[in-house]
Order: sequence, then C-alpha cells, then structure tokens
Amino acid sequence: MKLITIAIDGHSSCGKSTMAKDLAKEIGYIYIDTGAMYRAVTLFALQNGLITDEGIINEEGLRQRMSDIMITFQLNEETGRPDTYLNGVCVEREIRTMEVSKHVSPIATLGFVREAMVDLQRLMGEAKGVIMDGRDIGTVVFPDAELKVFVTASADVRAKRRYDELTAKGEKCDYDEIRANVIERDRIDSTRAISPLRQADDAIVLDNSNMTIPEQKAWLLEQYRRVAGRE
Ligand code: C5P
Repeated sequence: MKLITIAIDGHSSCGKSTMAKDLAKEIGYIYIDTGAMYRAVTLFALQNGLITDEGIINEEGLRQRMSDIMITFQLNEETGRPDTYLNGVCVEREIRTMEVSKHVSPIATLGFVREAMVDLQRLMGEAKGVIMDGRDIGTVVFPDAELKVFVTASADVRAKRRYDELTAKGEKCDYDEIRANVIERDRIDSTRAISPLRQADDAIVLDNSNMTIPEQKAWLLEQYRRVAGRE
C-alpha cells in the first residue's frame, strides 16, 4: 500500500475523530485532531484572561501571545490514542469542556490563529501517512490529499453522542445546551470569511446518522484500501 494523506472534515460532533483514530491505529498512521489544536488555543485564551465573561476576545492580546502557545500530541499508552498537550501540560480533559466548546468557534475565525495552526498541521503531515480531521483539511490544509471524506449526521444524533460522551466523563451537562452549541458552531464554522467549513469537490460524503461505530470503521478502512491500493 502506498503512503497517503487522509483528510476527514465535517460537522461538529459527528464522530470524525473516533473513526479517524481507529483507522490510524489499525493502519499505523499518525492521527492529528486539528479541532483539539483550536481548542487548546481557546483554553490558553481563557486561562490568560483573553476572553471576557461576555465572550469578547482580546484579539490583539491573543495575537501577541501566539508565540507562547506550544501544542503537541503524545501517545497515551493506556488508550492507544494521542493526548493533546498545551505548553507541556496534558489538557485532553480541559479542552473538551462546554466552556471551551462555547468559545472555540469564534477563536477559530481569527486569521492569525488559523495561519499558525495550518502551518503546524502542514508540518505534522508533510511526510504523509497521516489522518487529519477538522473543518478545512481537504479544502485548505491538504487540498491534494488522496482520500477526502466529509462526514455529517443529524443535529439530534450529534447532540446525543456529545451528551453521552460528556456524561461518561462525569461532566454535568444539558442536552439542549449541547444541541444548541453544535448547531451554533456549525453556523459560525460554515459562514466565517477565512477557510469556511465546506465539502471539498472531490470528497466522499458519509452521513453516519444511522451507522454504528464498527460500521463506520469498516467503511473507512474500505475507502483507505481502495485509494492506497491503487497504482
Ligand atoms: O473538531 P472539534 O469539534 O473539536 O473542533 C472544535 C472547533 O474548532 C470547531 O467547531 C471549529 O470552530 C474549529 N476547527 C476549525 N478548523 C479545523 C478544526 C476545528 O475551525 N480544522
């Protein structure tokens, strides 16, 4: 099989990262969760008083502090999946909270944030053999990716999955708040001026509303074999 780049984009909370992580593990590819990178920047902004209680971002302050933000991934031996580190500290749990989810999409509209993240993503994926999930991977980060998938599912299904995920982690959460957040993030992500969320012309669409995780995994593996096995 030849080494390829796999780009998985799509709407919020539709299971992109679960299927991407599983495939990476199975075929020995590097998995990069680009949403985690935008979430880490958001966490940094919250921790450093760069977002007010009303949600207003101190853009100039954040721009000046961008060079103080170092994002890395380290494989967690227990889960077999990479954890996100912000300046050397594991923030995997902190970046998944509702607090971060509420502020991440406005942060991800900022041009200087996107530029820094895209540079880092291209560097991480330059040797191929990588699966990257996000919103602009197939359109902007790796427009030449050999396999592009655009994932979607109904808002109700997505909100329920997010709710179950947060509840399983012991976080108190409200289903309606999660559903509203998922819809609002999609709205901001799809309408922003820079690199909006959209399906690449050459992406395959997967609506996984009625699919189980093993079914999605099998589907993605089949796509990979079809593309990577091609001469
Ligand atoms: O994938 P996840 O839901 O964790 O991403 C969090 C947010 O980060 C998205 O709602 C979006 O605003 C932003 N994002 C982005 N571009 C990416 C990945 C994520 O703008 N490539």
